[in-house]
Amino acid sequence: MSSFCFSEAHEMFRKEVRAFSRKELAPGAKERARLDHYPKEMVRKIGKQGLYGVNLPEEYGGQPADWVSVGIVAEELARVDFSGAVLLHHAEGSCLTLAQGPKAMQVEWAPPIIAGEKIAAFLVTEPDHGSDAAAMETRAIRDGDDYVITGEKTAITYGLQADMGLLWAKTDPSQKAHGVTCFLLPLDLPGITKSRFPDLGWRQTGRASIILDNVRLPARYRIGEEGQGFYSVMGAFDLIRVLLCLEAIGMAAASLDDAIAYAKQRTAFGQPVAKFEGVSFTLAEDYTMLEAARLLCYRTLSLRDQGVRHTKESAMCKLLCPKVAAEIQHHVLLLHGHIGYTEDYPVEQRLRDTIGLEIGDGTAQIMKIIVARELLGREFLPY
Ligand SMILES: Cc1cc2nc3c(=O)[nH]c(=O)nc-3n(C[C@H](O)[C@H](O)[C@H](O)COP(=O)(O)OP(=O)(O)OC[C@H]3O[C@@H](n4cnc5c(N)ncnc54)[C@H](O)[C@@H]3O)c2cc1C
Repeated sequence: MSSFCFSEAHEMFRKEVRAFSRKELAPGAKERARLDHYPKEMVRKIGKQGLYGVNLPEEYGGQPADWVSVGIVAEELARVDFSGAVLLHHAEGSCLTLAQGPKAMQVEWAPPIIAGEKIAAFLVTEPDHGSDAAAMETRAIRDGDDYVITGEKTAITYGLQADMGLLWAKTDPSQKAHGVTCFLLPLDLPGITKSRFPDLGWRQTGRASIILDNVRLPARYRIGEEGQGFYSVMGAFDLIRVLLCLEAIGMAAASLDDAIAYAKQRTAFGQPVAKFEGVSFTLAEDYTMLEAARLLCYRTLSLRDQGVRHTKESAMCKLLCPKVAAEIQHHVLLLHGHIGYTEDYPVEQRLRDTIGLEIGDGTAQIMKIIVARELLGREFLPY
């Protein structure tokens, strides 16, 4: 058991990121949240600030730091601009995955992703296989110097806007996880069609289905060896899950700040509603749960910084944080009474986006399976 606390450098960095977010991202955030896409100039703005390259290689435009600092960026961006924060875990996760591919591929793709010039998506889920990702059916068949790819990937965040996708497909359909290979797929190749989901939240991220109809992909776009792809995605998920959780926490923290200010100024029965324990105790409980969830995330990132395996801890974060954050958003919405129910206040948008975080990258049930497997041993899995 290792301890964790923020260093002075972490606190300074948080202040810098918060100041940038308030100045550059907060203006217009409410209006932007109604768009069906995330403006490219916003992606560039965050990239130019260096925030999509924290703890990524300097030779590609990244800046030296630790994983705790990446978590700080996730939390602070999400406080004001959830869609921009999502692109943080896309940048970090895609660069980690690219690092397992050929150098030329990294040189071509990592710098524009870090700079906010290009967007990466993750193509894992299929219409018939979500939680059981290893059962995927999308096929990549070797044909000379190419692979020919056929299948459908679905629920793909930024599927409409992304320039490339990290694609996981079966090269050996007789195997489950051991038959999965990872590829970089430029999303403008012939044979690719996309369609949008009419979503409850995450509207700017344009979640989409991507149909691959005999897409010819040069073999040099393969990442790692055939059959090794499933293990590369799982490594990136250990990081991505914690960043997603800190996005949920950032949004919940922003809503709790709003709730505290509102409870002090809103009066009922001749008193500020903050004086009623029915209100103040809920705020106290929510603050406590949020702080516990937050610390679990940062401690998990500090384990990653120490090179300690943290699959169980990442799954614990994903099991706990989006649920806690969704409950907080619901409480804050109710505290604002009928006003909280309107689109004039950001809490309804944060609640919708947080519910998406309960599903994306694995549901709570799947996280329990991972935690139980790590606690009890693989031989006690139900399948
Ligand atoms: C906002 C959002 C963004 C997303 N972004 C992406 C993305 O960028 N790329 C991508 O590839 N995918 C993405 N997804 C897809 C997401 O990862 C899947 O939706 C998720 O893994 C669940 O898969 P499913 O929807 O097929 O549900 P299913 O697997 O069909 O599960 C249905 C229900 O059964 C439960 N269940 C399944 N198996 C078990 C079990 N063994 N024990 C107990 N309960 C079980 C699940 O928890 C769930 O409640 C996104 C989803 C959302 C909502």
